[in-house]
Amino acid sequence: MKILICDDEAHNRLLMEKILSPYGRCDLMMNGKEALESFEMALMDGDPYDLVCLDIMMPEMDGQEALRKIRELERAQNIDESEEAAIFMVTALNTEEHVVQAFFRGGCTDYLAKPVTRDRVLEKMRQYNLIDT
Ligand SMILES: [Mg+2]
Repeated sequence: MKILICDDEAHNRLLMEKILSPYGRCDLMMNGKEALESFEMALMDGDPYDLVCLDIMMPEMDGQEALRKIRELERAQNIDESEEAAIFMVTALNTEEHVVQAFFRGGCTDYLAKPVTRDRVLEKMRQYNLIDT
C-alpha cells in the first residue's frame, strides 16, 4: 500500500508515519501544494496512492483545497469511484461546517479528529478495507 501523509506540523507527520508505516510506504508532505504535486506524479506514473491523510489547516494550500484538487485529478483521469484513493481528513477543527465541507463538497472518505491515536486510525483503515485485521 502507498500512503501520502500531509501535515504542516512535523510532530503530526511523524506520528502518522509511526502508525501507518507497518502497512505501507509512507511519503510525508508539509502542505497541500506538495501533496497535490506528489499525488499527481504518482497518478501519472500509474502508481497511485491508496491512502491520503490530509491535515486541514496548512499554509500554501490547505487540506480542503488539496482534497478538491486531488478528486478533480482523479476525475480528469477517469478513475472509477471504486479505484479512487481513500482520503482521511485529519484535523483539530472538528466542527460541523468543516466536516460537511470535506464530505459533501470535497469528496473525502472519512474524517479523523485530533488527537489522532493508533486505534482510531486502524479502525478507519479496517472500515474501508485498507487492512484486514
Ligand atoms: Mg496544520
